[in-house]
Amino acid sequence: MDGHNYGYNLPISEKTKMVPWEEKVRIVEEVKSDFRFKEYIFGCLNCGVCTASCPSNRFFDFSPREIVQRFLEEDVEVLYDMMHEYIWACSQCFTCWIRCPFVNNPGGLVAIMREVAVRNAFEATKDLLKPYGRVLLKVMTTGNQLSADMLQPDFFPDWGPKMADNMENLRAKRLAIPFDVGKSVKTAWEVSLETAIEMYTIWRETGIFEMLEKLDPNLYNVIMDIVEENEERYQELYGEEE
Ligand code: SF4
Ligand code: SF4
Repeated sequence: MDGHNYGYNLPISEKTKMVPWEEKVRIVEEVKSDFRFKEYIFGCLNCGVCTASCPSNRFFDFSPREIVQRFLEEDVEVLYDMMHEYIWACSQCFTCWIRCPFVNNPGGLVAIMREVAVRNAFEATKDLLKPYGRVLLKVMTTGNQLSADMLQPDFFPDWGPKMADNMENLRAKRLAIPFDVGKSVKTAWEVSLETAIEMYTIWRETGIFEMLEKLDPNLYNVIMDIVEENEERYQELYGEEE
């Protein structure tokens, strides 16, 4: 029979069926070994309140109740299958957590599942994250997702003449911002070299760079060039003081 006979109506993918059982168990155990797991799942009435209030459920075949139930039943096959595309439908709003009478946190479970999916560089995860490469580059190299000079009137004609007014003398307006980090035009705020170096240290220690390398080696190389350049600059400026 295609699909699960209770609740999870999506057919188990052929790819999941081909994966050795031990590997599926390993992945599910990796999720369960996360220190947050025990704080996100306490039991389940199967009441469906989480799914009824889940915004993603309105648009996709996606159910937080299903995720909680599958963990409680230790349904390795379905959980492994969910970790490829299913989990990416969650919008991480945490309404499920607020509403659940057991204070389960299905959105939190999804967050752990996503982290494991990224760490294990699943193909579906690579495909899903591909369109966000530019955003990731901008965030990881400047600490910003948007810059002031991106708000060009031509890009936002529906905002009317106010946008053209806003952009006039943009540099002077940004310089008038009464705090130093806001004076930049090419970024929404400027991240100091010290802060950048702290972030690189955190990303190294927590395995973020390692994850990125597995997911997108090209993007990893571009980002690491900038990271190493900044680290050298930092070393030149402060190396002897340390
Ligand atoms: S956090 Fe995810 S699962 Fe929970 S209500 Fe929001 S979209 Fe649904
Ligand atoms: S709201 Fe809580 S108890 Fe009810 S189905 Fe969802 S996870 Fe289970």
